[in-house]
Amino acid sequence: MFKYIIGSAASQLAFSKHDLENIRIPKIGSTIDGEQYTALIDRGLSLGAFEEINTLISLTYENLVGDEDSLLNQAHRSPIRAADNALCLLLALQSSLSRHNTHAIGSLADLIRLLLQQTRQKLGEYPTKLPGWRHKPRSCGQGDMCKDGAELNKFLLSQDDMVWRFSASLSRRQHLVHHLPGDLFKLNTEKRGLPHTLVVIKLGKEFDQQLARYNEQLRSLQEDLQPLKGHFLLDLLGQEKYDELVCLNSSTRPPATSGVTSLKRPAELITV
Ligand SMILES: [Zn+2]
Repeated sequence: MFKYIIGSAASQLAFSKHDLENIRIPKIGSTIDGEQYTALIDRGLSLGAFEEINTLISLTYENLVGDEDSLLNQAHRSPIRAADNALCLLLALQSSLSRHNTHAIGSLADLIRLLLQQTRQKLGEYPTKLPGWRHKPRSCGQGDMCKDGAELNKFLLSQDDMVWRFSASLSRRQHLVHHLPGDLFKLNTEKRGLPHTLVVIKLGKEFDQQLARYNEQLRSLQEDLQPLKGHFLLDLLGQEKYDELVCLNSSTRPPATSGVTSLKRPAELITV
């Protein structure tokens, strides 16, 4: 009877993008929540309904990646929330699945990989060390309309210039000062002559600060993923994917592509 129910209603019971986005919001009506979903899988496997559960998980995977408006694209809107929700479903799935022999469920690894990739949204990109004194540009919110902002960015993007002198009225100087945090720049105002001169000195700490922030995100995600470590996911994913997605081993160092990028800029590196 149970097998019949799952078999005939798998498409309704499968998890959808909408379900995942709202996993923490109590459901009304026909939609199912994460707990009900994993309880259903648990019960199905206990009864030996492997084929039906495989169909259910396969449909869930298709629901989550199925069209152009995929879960991964949707997650750009609120990546942290999507990552938290994916983690929530992963933990629930692991606790209900690890009690069973899941070798017969071929579609499971795809779903688990997708959810693990989703949790990585909590981790930004590994920061890139820029050559010389070059900084990332900063937006004053006025885009190309702001000539002072453009001048500031010229200085920020320069790999050779550590110091910039900007003589202008108080309001124009203040406009730029708001976008120059004290932990990255030393700011002085020279009051000889009019207008006064804002002196901006790069402290050379941008990369260190970004790396510290990244490492903090990495530590936090490693903590989140700690309960998922173990033979269940290792057997399911294989060593390489397990190391990458659960242990985050490759995330602790710069991606291999950054070496290629720096090779493209030998002139910049030589002048540093
Ligand atoms: Zn501006």
